[in-house]
Amino acid sequence: MHSQQVTAEPPSNDGVERDSTVGDVPGVLWSPVSGADRAPLMFDVIIAGCGPTGAMLAAELRLHDVRVLVLEKETEPASFVRIVGLHIRSLELMAMRGLLDRILDHGRQRPAGGFFAAIPKPAPKGLDSAYAYLLGIPQPVIVHLLEEHAIALGAQVRRGCAVSGFEQDDEGVTVELTDGEQLRSRYLVGCDGGRSTVRKLLGVGFPGAPSRTETLMGEMEVGVPQEEIAAKVTELREIHQRFWLRPFGEGVYSVVVPAARVSDRAKPPTLDDFTQQLRTIAGTDFGVHSPRWMSRFGDATRLAERYRVGRVLLAGDAAHIHPPIGGQGLNLGVQDASNLGWKLAAQIRGWAPETLLDTYQAERHPVAEDVLDNTRAQMELLSTEPGPQAVRRLFTELMDFDEVNRYLIEKITAIGIRYDFGEGPDLLGRRLRDIDVKQGRLYGLLHRGRGLLLDRTGRLTVGGWSDRVDDLADPTAALDVPCVLLRPDGHVAWIGDDQQDLDDHLSRWFGKPAN
Ligand SMILES: Cc1cc2nc3c(=O)[nH]c(=O)nc-3n(C[C@H](O)[C@H](O)[C@H](O)COP(=O)(O)OP(=O)(O)OC[C@H]3O[C@@H](n4cnc5c(N)ncnc54)[C@H](O)[C@@H]3O)c2cc1C
Repeated sequence: MHSQQVTAEPPSNDGVERDSTVGDVPGVLWSPVSGADRAPLMFDVIIAGCGPTGAMLAAELRLHDVRVLVLEKETEPASFVRIVGLHIRSLELMAMRGLLDRILDHGRQRPAGGFFAAIPKPAPKGLDSAYAYLLGIPQPVIVHLLEEHAIALGAQVRRGCAVSGFEQDDEGVTVELTDGEQLRSRYLVGCDGGRSTVRKLLGVGFPGAPSRTETLMGEMEVGVPQEEIAAKVTELREIHQRFWLRPFGEGVYSVVVPAARVSDRAKPPTLDDFTQQLRTIAGTDFGVHSPRWMSRFGDATRLAERYRVGRVLLAGDAAHIHPPIGGQGLNLGVQDASNLGWKLAAQIRGWAPETLLDTYQAERHPVAEDVLDNTRAQMELLSTEPGPQAVRRLFTELMDFDEVNRYLIEKITAIGIRYDFGEGPDLLGRRLRDIDVKQGRLYGLLHRGRGLLLDRTGRLTVGGWSDRVDDLADPTAALDVPCVLLRPDGHVAWIGDDQQDLDDHLSRWFGKPAN
């Protein structure tokens, strides 16, 4: 089973779930299929892949009581420890779901500057966030914490189960595992990484550029004193931006060095590859030995042509890949999940406005496009060629202007994102920073993943939407507009002071009122 049968859905009259956009797949007609022979719909959503994106999405869906099953092909969590940087917007999302304190216990805070193309500039002052730092944290730890959170909320996670096929019809998706088992759900989301099986089976194009440069990365012990390494690294990093040796504690170093031409990408790198490349670049192999793990990454840059085909969606690396420079991939995936979660839940709970689910692609595809572009630009700035080196020097000068530095940091940390919600004040479409409210902190009020009206006039009401949207009258003086409507992902959906206008926007984002 690897074909995908896409059909439009007949008009619903049960008021529970409707999906009028399923049928927008070009050239596909609705063909009524009898449900009599199909397995029961045991789940609302099956997620392929329990990486950071899949785990975050599962948790977001569970906030709305959606029945979620996560299928993960690996039997055990990843054994190697790659330190990743959680950027400001992701830290904010963790705070919005009450997870940040737990995560901070496992990471190291660093200033939110110096990571654009590794140009060493300090973070601009007064970044617009209560969490204006970078958190270095091992990727397996963040995945574990997100998975634990999703399970605590009621998600099921099955390890050692790889999705190998699926077929979608008018009511749901039949998902097949490699051992032949079939499971059925209303929706399937491929969070199964850059080589996504779901994306390939879906036949969604993944255009872009193949890898041109390869880099070796690993952790290992060294055989020379720290001072000797530090001096050599400083000298070499003047020219080779893709080279570093950083102490990692207990005699272990994180080693990054350009790779030689790779003949077989399926083969993992060896210690020999590291020693040879270190000798070529540095003239010494620093006596590296006893590797903890070794890996290789390229700079391929690709973006899925679409994020949704009928009842199957893509998120995270399954939808976009790019070089790890600037540390944005995991962040982008987690943010995809926070954008998609409440919309897919609304679709399943039956209150989603007709086009809500498609705003996932409309909002997130351009964001990924922008990340692909900025990583491409950063990779150019790491080149040792004279032209890019000259551009790097110019960029280094330009970043002394606060506005330039701030623009780049806001871009990479994703706090500069403004979704296009139409004409309106600059805040419309942006996320609102965590502010003090009478009840404590704003993000503390978003733990349940519901919408929120912040009403300084004291005369507006969420009325028939109170089952989906909370209402906070006279919240704070820190807000310099009369009223703000926040979506569950913390983005500003409306600003104003008129009840009718508010009702129109509540309908736009939260569907018909319950009463
Ligand atoms: C060297 C390096 C450094 C990086 N540093 C950073 C950083 O600092 N900050 C940052 O934000 N990002 C960083 N990244 C990128 C980040 O690691 C990825 O973007 C992130 O892991 C993507 O998460 P994901 O959940 O979308 O996919 P993945 O992490 O790839 O997870 C996909 C999951 O799906 C499972 N799976 C695959 N196929 C199937 C199937 N058929 N059925 C079921 N399960 C399946 C896999 O086993 C895996 O668990 C870095 C990447 C590299 C290579």
